[in-house]
Amino acid sequence: MDIVSRSVRSRMMRGIRSSDTRPELLVRSAAHRLGLRFRLHRRDLPGTPDLVFPRHRTVVFVHGCFWHRHDCGLAAEPKTRKRFWTEKFAANVMRDEKNRAELAAQGWRVIEIWECETRNSSSVRRRLQRAFHVRRLAPATRKRRREGVKSSIPVRCVAASTARAARLSGHGT
Ligand SMILES: [Zn+2]
Repeated sequence: MDIVSRSVRSRMMRGIRSSDTRPELLVRSAAHRLGLRFRLHRRDLPGTPDLVFPRHRTVVFVHGCFWHRHDCGLAAEPKTRKRFWTEKFAANVMRDEKNRAELAAQGWRVIEIWECETRNSSSVRRRLQRAFHVRRLAPATRKRRREGVKSSIPVRCVAASTARAARLSGHGT
């Protein structure tokens, strides 16, 4: 049996890069809750990074484990068309490397977060806190916490807050 569904496979074959994936939304949400300002998918930068933090001169890529060949259980080898996939994967890994090098040459710090790491939202938060030296959550998030509102936001709310974050980050950066 194939490891990805037919529709996913057909997207991959067409080489469509998925954006707004669940792992990506989780990272955006964590960054937003820390009060970090960011922009999404800046096409003028190598590799169109998923999140761009201009003030920190930092970009974040949220990598799908399968597509970018993370050494974890999610990156299983397809059973069919092995040669096709081997070449495809090698090209992806090379492209990632090239993007990292180009971004670094332009003075950007590059952070890569793997899909499997986003399964644990508090570890994503800690990672961002360390990377950006943020101790505390954003005031609105602290208030929600004090009031005992559950901190794990359902996905549909994440999408809404992401849209808000995108609007906010569209200004003054
Ligand atoms: Zn992984």
